[in-house]
Amino acid sequence: MAMQFLEMPDKDGFFGEYGGQIIPPQLKAIMDDINMAYDQVSQTKAFKDELQALYSDYVGRPSPIYFARRLTEQQGGARIFLKREDLNHTGAHKINHCLGEALLAKHMGKTKVLAETGAGQHGVALATACALVGIDCEIHMGEIDIAKEHPNVTKMKILGCKLIPVTRGTRTLKDAVDSAFDEYLKDPVNFFYAIGSVVGPHPFPKMVRDFQSIVGIEAREQFLAKEGKLPDYVIACVGGGSNAIGLFTAFLSDDDVKMVGVEPAGLGLDTADHAATLTLGEKGAIHGFKCYNLQDKEGNPLPVYSIASGLDYPGVGPQHCYLKDIERVSYEVIDDQECLNAFMTLSRLEGIIPALESAHAVAYAMKLAKTLPADQTILINLSGRGDKDADFVAEKLSL
Ligand SMILES: *Cc1c(COP(=O)(O)O)cnc(C)c1O
Repeated sequence: MAMQFLEMPDKDGFFGEYGGQIIPPQLKAIMDDINMAYDQVSQTKAFKDELQALYSDYVGRPSPIYFARRLTEQQGGARIFLKREDLNHTGAHKINHCLGEALLAKHMGKTKVLAETGAGQHGVALATACALVGIDCEIHMGEIDIAKEHPNVTKMKILGCKLIPVTRGTRTLKDAVDSAFDEYLKDPVNFFYAIGSVVGPHPFPKMVRDFQSIVGIEAREQFLAKEGKLPDYVIACVGGGSNAIGLFTAFLSDDDVKMVGVEPAGLGLDTADHAATLTLGEKGAIHGFKCYNLQDKEGNPLPVYSIASGLDYPGVGPQHCYLKDIERVSYEVIDDQECLNAFMTLSRLEGIIPALESAHAVAYAMKLAKTLPADQTILINLSGRGDKDADFVAEKLSL
């Protein structure tokens, strides 16, 4: 079992039938070049040491594991633990892979790092990493999102990235992707497109997973040291799937550890307003790779929705698709209402305001804990903090 997972993806970037490179030949050559550079550079002592030093002295790793006593008592069942990625510099797990990508771009001699952002979380994490590493950064963001996401827009400006407002089409994430990609195609040899999750063409699902796997490596050691055994369940929310695969990877070969990925049911699976890609999606191509995705009859991505903007992506990482098919991970859903309830419950019982994304994982863990005996344990990846969501929730609940 162990080797089976470590050797994934295969040399062409496939996890079973998912992943790969569904891109024009010109881009395939560039992606293969990134893959080769990554395989070489990431194995050098210099790169490993540099990234490790940044994880510890800059991000503040290892992030702690915290026993949520009051949350556990309220549910009355399995004991619930949190892996505190919300305590990282910039407040979420995204900094782990953004630092890796920025460092790799620098080592490859690229002149500019490019990306799109929706709510601005990826934009801020990437702008932070680029400021630190010392490389130009350009973020494309829809005009409508720019108007909505004021604090993140301001942060990106302060951090010195070039923010490009996207005025075409929907003026949201969908067109920001196209805009950033057009810019990238002007000079893919010198530019680096930094993808924000375990999605996109090979080698991105592999690289982003590897950079995030520090989460599970730490968590496994910390949990063993604390409890003398491994957790019975590990749980994480799934948008593209980077924080989930980051936690899961270290446990994949531990057959007794059950894993749950939590997708957003939004307003309900019987409505169009959800982003339950693995639960309701069909196999197809999106953004350069094969995965389950939510698409119309012509194979175009459907508009998706979640109260947590970091989870509303119509595709999902190829490794998650594979793990679903072989039934190593079970994928469940949580709707907006359950998410809000978990957001408030964790805030009021533990004094921890979670990101709405992470609150999906908390909500599922709360339901699960009740059904389990007290000698069982659940470890949640608390992927980020909820400062960004506080105003929105306060308004929504008329606080
Ligand atoms: C972006 C984000 C997510 C979703 O992305 P994944 O790639 O699925 O991890 C989850 N939690 C937080 C806090 C985020 O910012």
